[in-house]
Order: sequence, then structure tokens, then C-alpha cells
Amino acid sequence: MVVSVESAERDRDRELVVPEAIREELRAHAQEEAPNECCGLVVFRDGRAERYVRGVNRVASPYRYELEIDPTIWFLEDEGYDLAVFHSHPETEPIPSRTDRELAGLWSGKPFLIYGLKLDQLRAWRVSRDVVDELTLRTV
Ligand SMILES: [Zn+2]
Repeated sequence: MVVSVESAERDRDRELVVPEAIREELRAHAQEEAPNECCGLVVFRDGRAERYVRGVNRVASPYRYELEIDPTIWFLEDEGYDLAVFHSHPETEPIPSRTDRELAGLWSGKPFLIYGLKLDQLRAWRVSRDVVDELTLRTV
């Protein structure tokens, strides 16, 4: 069987691995910040999450977030890591809200991870103003 490079790349692009240990950290942060949304960045290498860096939700709100984080984290992108923007939805489903879609431009196509605390559900998205695409999330 021949798999074209193009389709292999496309699949990898649509699939992320977040191991249970990292999920545990995301869950813990969401619980600590509830009823407000928490936020941070997940550091990926080759589609696999290696660590979670907590940020501060500058607006301390249950409905939205503004990520404040150590700016040196962004340099990891120059070292071959990919960053995904994480935030929690304390009460609602982990689906990008209208606000999330409107602010998506800020993150120039980075994947979004959203954790729904009440539903205990982590989901991943690629979001632009007009298009919301769900990505496949695996634990291994
Ligand atoms: Zn949101």
C-alpha cells in the first residue's frame, strides 16, 4: 500500500496526542481556577504533548480569558516545538464559543484545547473566524 506524503501530513495535522499525565494537569488547573476559566499553553513535539505551562487569566472571568504567560515560552517554537492554546469552560461544553472564534486570529492557526470541567471532557479544535474544525485527540 502506498500512502502519499501529502495525506500522511494531513492526518498528522489533524491528530494530537495528550497523555493522561498532561490531562491531569489541565484538569487540576481548571479545578483550581473554577468558577473562572483557566488558561495556558501546551507544548507539543511531533504532535505529542510534552508539558503544560500555566498562564494567568488576566480578566479572571467565568466566560472568557486573556492569556498572560511568561513570554519566553514563545521561543520554544524556534526550537521545533508547537504550542497549543489551552483554556477551560467551567460549566459548558468544550466547544469554541463565539468569543473564542472572534479572538482566534490572535493565535494564527494554533490548535485550541478546551477542557469542559463539568463534563470532564477535553477536546481539540482548529478555529478561525468562520471555520471550526475538530481535531482527533488521543492519549497514546
Ligand atoms: Zn472558550
